[in-house]
Amino acid sequence: MVKENLEKIRATVPSGVTLVAVSKTKPVEDIQEAYEAGQRVFGENHALEMRDKHEVLPKDIDWHFIGHLQTNKIKYIIGFTRMIHSIDTFNLLQAVNKEAAKHHRVVDCLLQFHIAEEETKFGLSMDEAEEILNSDIFKAMNNVRICGVMGMATNTDNMAQVRKEFKHLKEIFETLKAKHFAGCEWFKEISMGMSHDYPIAIEEGSTMVRVGSKIFGERVYKV
Ligand SMILES: *Cc1c(COP(=O)(O)O)cnc(C)c1O
Repeated sequence: MVKENLEKIRATVPSGVTLVAVSKTKPVEDIQEAYEAGQRVFGENHALEMRDKHEVLPKDIDWHFIGHLQTNKIKYIIGFTRMIHSIDTFNLLQAVNKEAAKHHRVVDCLLQFHIAEEETKFGLSMDEAEEILNSDIFKAMNNVRICGVMGMATNTDNMAQVRKEFKHLKEIFETLKAKHFAGCEWFKEISMGMSHDYPIAIEEGSTMVRVGSKIFGERVYKV
């Protein structure tokens, strides 16, 4: 089913938008099936799970970390991760920079913004982002590259609400681009949209959609 699902999704994602196949909780066999169908970009939200999958799967996979990242887990993924979508504190960005330096890497990162109504979603406010970007500590970082923004809309069937939140993230992106990244060709990513709302995200300017259950099926969490 994975191959068929993937082909269906691909047909709806324009060529300028990266499809991140979110394989969290799914076995490596499912990822292998997607890989054989041509998929190379995968998203995971647990560091050890991503490390274990990276070890056994083909080495030309682009691994994207999309979940809340604890600083003590960075070391497990920093040697290979292609992009971290979920920079949600200054402290985390500093820790990523430090670990990346140990591997002589420059790691692409997105600033995660809190755009949803729910209290529980992680993410920065505009003030927190400004504080990071204006600081001398940030300006001295050589091992991270801020490539754009990420956000999760409220988990609701109210698509007008979801659209409004995606519009807000796009505005945040444009504001930061003008103020801090003008003429910087790598600051170009807006990571927004999941299985139930990615078509709206694309309409609102998403450049990266993170789709899990519509490719791999519903996740079953052990309790
Ligand atoms: C799980 C997850 C997704 C994918 O969710 P689906 O609804 O299965 O498409 C996208 N982004 C993040 C941050 C996630 O944790």
